[in-house]
Amino acid sequence: MYEKGRAWIELNKENLRHNVRLFQKFLPESTALMPAVKANAYGHGDILISKELQKLGISHFCVACAEEGVRLRRAGIKGEILVLGYTHPENFDLLREYCLTQTIVDYAYGETMAAYGKELTVHIGIDTGMHRLGESSDHISRICRLWEFENLKITGVYSHLCTSDGETEAEQAFVKLQERRFLRAVQYLKDSVNAEFSTHLQGSYGILNKKLLSGNYDYARVGIALYGALSEPSQSLEQKFDLRPVLSLKARIGCVREVSQGEGAGYGLAWHAPSFRKIAAVSIGYADGIPRALSNKGHALVRGKKVPIVGRICMDQLLLDVTEVPEAVSGDEAVLIGKSRDAEIKAQEMAVEAGTISNEILSRMGERVRRIAV
Ligand SMILES: *Cc1c(COP(=O)(O)O)cnc(C)c1O
Repeated sequence: MYEKGRAWIELNKENLRHNVRLFQKFLPESTALMPAVKANAYGHGDILISKELQKLGISHFCVACAEEGVRLRRAGIKGEILVLGYTHPENFDLLREYCLTQTIVDYAYGETMAAYGKELTVHIGIDTGMHRLGESSDHISRICRLWEFENLKITGVYSHLCTSDGETEAEQAFVKLQERRFLRAVQYLKDSVNAEFSTHLQGSYGILNKKLLSGNYDYARVGIALYGALSEPSQSLEQKFDLRPVLSLKARIGCVREVSQGEGAGYGLAWHAPSFRKIAAVSIGYADGIPRALSNKGHALVRGKKVPIVGRICMDQLLLDVTEVPEAVSGDEAVLIGKSRDAEIKAQEMAVEAGTISNEILSRMGERVRRIAV
C-alpha cells in the first residue's frame, strides 16, 4: 500500500532532535526532560515518537492514562512512565505489571491506593490553584500523612501551572503565586518526611516563560513545544526560540474542476463561486482531524501557494479554490500543516482559524492518517 496515496503525516525526526537539544540547553543541567507523550504524542504517534526520544537519551515520559503507558511498555519503552490522570482501582494491577508511576490525585485517592495493599510507585499531585488534580497545597499535613502508607513508594511531588501561557500581569502573578505555594509545600515536606523525592512544575509554557519562576526542578514535562509548535502564534516566542515543527499534514488532490460564477459547491452549497473558479477536491476531511470549523475559512498550500478552503469540510474530503494555481492537477500534494516551497502553515495558524489551540488540532489527528518518519 502506497503510504502517501491519500492523506498522511510526515514526522521530521531531525526537528524533534533539534527541539530536544534546544530545551536541554535552555534548562539547567539538573533538569531532565519528561516529555508528555499523551494522546498519541499529541497526534504524532506515541510509539514512534517515544522510541525516537528514547534513542535521544530521554528516560522519563508522562502520559494521561494507564492504557497509554501500557502501550508504550508493550512497544519496549524503558525508564519512568508517569500517569498524570486518574486510574481506576480495577486497573491498579496494570500499574504494577507495567511499572507505571501513578499520580495521587488527592488525599482520598491516596487512601484508596493504600487500601489496595500491594506496592505502587507514585508521584503526589499538589493543587496550587488550578483546582483540577492534586491535593490542596493548603493541606500540607494531610500530604505528609501519605508517607505513612507503607505500600506507597513516593518518588515525586509535582504541581501544574494554569496561566503560564498568559501575558497579562495578573496571569504572570498567578504563576508566581502557584510556584510560591509549591515551593512552600516542598520545603515543608523535605523538613517533615525522612525521604528523598523529585519535584516538577513546568509544562511547555513554564519552560518558555522560565523567567517567571525561581526554583529549579528535577523534571520538565514538556509537551506541545517539544513537537515544535506553540499553542497559539506568538511573535516574541517564535523569535526567542527556534522551535521546528515535527509534524506536517498532507493530502492528495483527487480532481480539479471548473465552476462558473454563481454556482455552489459542497454540502448545503455553502460556498458560491464569486466568479469563474477552479476548485480541487482533496482527500482529507474532519474524520482525519481537519476541524469542520475551517469550512469556508481555512487554508492549504498547493505548489507553494496559499489557497482557501471553500465550502463545508466533509468527513473525508474538502475543497480548495485553486484558481491562483493554474498548474494544479489531480495527484498534487495539498499541505494542510507544514511547508510547500517557501510557504508554510503552522499548526498554531490553523488553530487560530479554527478558533482553538494547536494542542487540540494535533491531538485530534485521525487514526486513518498514516504516520511516516522522514
Ligand atoms: C499535558 C500536560 C503537560 C504538557 O503540557 P504542554 O503545555 O503541552 O507542554 C504537562 N503537565 C501536565 C500535568 C499535563 O497534563
